[in-house]
Amino acid sequence: DEGDVDKWHKSVCRYCGTGCGVMLGMSKENQLVRVRGDQEAHNKGVICIKGSTLSNLMKQEDRRIKYPMIRKNGKLERATWDEALSLMADKFKEALAENGPESVGYYGSGQLLIEESYTANKLFKAGFKSNNVDGNPRLCMASAAVGYTQTFGKDEPPGCYEDMDHADCFFLIGSNTYEGHPPLWERIMIRKKSHPNTKIIVVDPRYTKTAEKADIHLPVVPGTDMLLLNSMMYCFIEQDLCDTDFISKNVTFNDGKSAVDFEKFKLFLEDYKPEKVADELGLTPRQIRTAAYWFGASKATMSMWTMGINQRAQGVFLNNNLNSMHLLTGQINRPGATPLSLTGQSNACGGVRDTGSLSHLLPNGRLVANPTHRAEMEKLWKVPAGTINPKPGYHALAMFQAMVDEKLKACLIMCTNPAQSLPNNDHYREGMKKSFLAVADIFETETTKFADVVLPAALYIEKEGVYGQTERRYQIIEKLVDPVGEAKSDLEILVEFAKKMGQDKLITAHTSEEVWEEYRELSSHSKYNFKGITRERLKKERGIQWPCPDENHPGTKRRYTKGDPFVPEGKDHYFYGKPDGKAVVFLRPYKRVKEVTSTTKPLYLTTGRVVSQWHTGTMTGGIKELNIQSGGGRFIMHPEDARRLKLKKGDLASVQSTYGTITGHVDISENETPGVVFASFYDPKFLVNKIVNDDYDPISKEPVYKVTAVNVSKA
Ligand code: SF4
Repeated sequence: DEGDVDKWHKSVCRYCGTGCGVMLGMSKENQLVRVRGDQEAHNKGVICIKGSTLSNLMKQEDRRIKYPMIRKNGKLERATWDEALSLMADKFKEALAENGPESVGYYGSGQLLIEESYTANKLFKAGFKSNNVDGNPRLCMASAAVGYTQTFGKDEPPGCYEDMDHADCFFLIGSNTYEGHPPLWERIMIRKKSHPNTKIIVVDPRYTKTAEKADIHLPVVPGTDMLLLNSMMYCFIEQDLCDTDFISKNVTFNDGKSAVDFEKFKLFLEDYKPEKVADELGLTPRQIRTAAYWFGASKATMSMWTMGINQRAQGVFLNNNLNSMHLLTGQINRPGATPLSLTGQSNACGGVRDTGSLSHLLPNGRLVANPTHRAEMEKLWKVPAGTINPKPGYHALAMFQAMVDEKLKACLIMCTNPAQSLPNNDHYREGMKKSFLAVADIFETETTKFADVVLPAALYIEKEGVYGQTERRYQIIEKLVDPVGEAKSDLEILVEFAKKMGQDKLITAHTSEEVWEEYRELSSHSKYNFKGITRERLKKERGIQWPCPDENHPGTKRRYTKGDPFVPEGKDHYFYGKPDGKAVVFLRPYKRVKEVTSTTKPLYLTTGRVVSQWHTGTMTGGIKELNIQSGGGRFIMHPEDARRLKLKKGDLASVQSTYGTITGHVDISENETPGVVFASFYDPKFLVNKIVNDDYDPISKEPVYKVTAVNVSKA
């Protein structure tokens, strides 16, 4: 029944990095009343339960923050926009005058629109000369971004979703695709149905819904999968599965310090013979050899991974290895053969990675530490030479640590909820009490509890802008309704804040469209070139993949091969991010995780998503249909562990790690692996991140959410 729909509008789902195209049905009263998948978009009409309840997201007016608030005597009190922004500007000016640019920061989100993250980045790096620009994508995709950059010389994946329609082998590692990216999972299942010989390899300590459908499930001990990837590469050589012609033309080897030859790489892999590593992995040598054979010998292999690989102490190395496996076997640059890291958030790629809105980055793949890149950006942003600070700013955890240490005096937090999402949460909450915090959000969250100023933000179709997901696809969300109460888009907030800070000569693009025009032009000076992705095209087409240098260009599905505008005529492959056009296979040794189980902490806690909730539950936590499906946050364990601990379903358990103790209800499932407890972080009444490890990858600075040793007892 679509009787209540007056008009359908093409849009994009608000939630995850799958970036599903949706059709939004608006009533005569201009209310969002129906949602369906967009048949013409890349997801071919498929959406998940979260996407199908988008209209409920817009119906929570009673929960929304409707006007600015200022904390007075410990309580948030209604204020005008002018009062709130003036107070914010006073605090930032005071910090800048007394303690310099390093004392102010911006903590953003992979869910803001491209135009918003771009503007915040420009304001802080070129306006305040502060590189303290970071955000939740650091917690999510930083290891993948660094992994691609090291291997190919440029961030963002070489392949695309369409590769799923051509692959004969899927290597899924650290991804519960069934729950995390449901339409992509359905696409894999369609491929398997039409091509029953397609192999699905799933590497996950848990027997997830994804693992249930695998041809081989490899339940590795948490934190050991570097051993598996190195061992599979050993097997590629042992089983003669390396594409020596591709390697000789397109690949170099590097031990992390200098170039080495293929022979040295082979020697390095000797330590990873399956017989040497199988016990530590919790696998058999035969399982490793089978997976390696399927990967290397298939016509086209596609790897997909997400947080299980990125949120790790060796996250970058794991990403390097996944890319290397494709380079060694020549499983790259053709339909179905590619590494493809799946993005978590709706706009972590386009909004944050591409705009360079992290503390070490500048737009379109440039680095703060690179003098040429800084000079290029200073010219493009029309600011004096030497404006951009050459030192990278604080990464996410360092930013909150700087609050603990009282070095970061004022911070603007937009569209994210670090008081629930940061690991070792209580520690960083202490910092939030000390710094001046301005928080822009749609609902009150754990983080607004620490805010000195709360700014009401517009939600989803209350504003307009571009999202960019996993496969370099940019898609537009158009404004269809007015913001509730006095809410403003994050872009408007940034523009007005810039004015109050005396930065109106720098921030001259005030509307989403104006910012897009500025940024589109800027991209043409880089290998991210999307000059051809005009606003008009975005409104008509179902997203366009960059590079797309001119308005007649169809966009680029696969990079570094024919069809990519940066690959010279006559070349089959060209990794143009590297000066010699060759991608790099690194020799990456396995290092045991810091958090290992012991007699006092005999279990591993691992965290992840459930299909019906989104991140910290800010948007989905008020939707009845979703809450019914997810239930409350809880610890899920294998019956064997529950029996040993004398715990039953529904009991309250106390779970203790080095970082803290929380209590939560117990759930029991045969699908969990003995020795591993699983929990999800969507429920503010169950703050599991209080006990999660805040160690991080030394290169990407992405925290290790996936491996924490814990003790569990009856509460
Ligand atoms: Fe939305 Fe992600 Fe679900 Fe697609 S998979 S409908 S983008 S939440």
